[in-house]
Amino acid sequence: MACIYVVPIHAVSQFWREPLEAGIQKAFGIESRFAGNWPIDLPRAYDKTRNQYNSSDILLQLISAPLTGAGKILGVAEVDLFIPILTFVFGEAQLDGIGSVVSSHRLENKFYGLPDDRALLVDRLIKESIHELGHTFGLLHCMTPACVLNSSTYMEDIDQKSAEFCSGCLHDLRPRLQDFQSGKGIR
Ligand SMILES: [Zn+2]
Ligand SMILES: [Zn+2]
Repeated sequence: MACIYVVPIHAVSQFWREPLEAGIQKAFGIESRFAGNWPIDLPRAYDKTRNQYNSSDILLQLISAPLTGAGKILGVAEVDLFIPILTFVFGEAQLDGIGSVVSSHRLENKFYGLPDDRALLVDRLIKESIHELGHTFGLLHCMTPACVLNSSTYMEDIDQKSAEFCSGCLHDLRPRLQDFQSGKGIR
């Protein structure tokens, strides 16, 4: 059966697990499967000149593991992610592919010197996860400010958008979800 694998990447605490799985279910109507023992070599992605982790390397490792049946993969990290052309990324995904990765690192209030807020962190993590997974279903960035596929440069942008797709994105997403659930398309 088609499902979304949620893979913790050396995540110390997994307090986000249940709300994230519920958020994925709500956004895509697809069951997620927690995959705690996915083999990821995090040190391999470390770039010591930047003191950050290369998200594309993590993505590559995520999609290298064999899947049974149709699946998308969402890796959840806690480290600071980057791609070479940007200072940092909240996450990365393969457009119309199977893999995506997000990190809680810059979603935490403490990164900005603000008081801890776990509920807000979970909220942001859910939005970023749905956003990246949306890309794996072939959806591009959306200009609608409240749409979860609106592009976020700063944490404030994430707080201003919702965890939902706008009607235009939903229209594009629905047939792709149907294909995915019926096993057509990728894997
Ligand atoms: Zn995006
Ligand atoms: Zn949209």
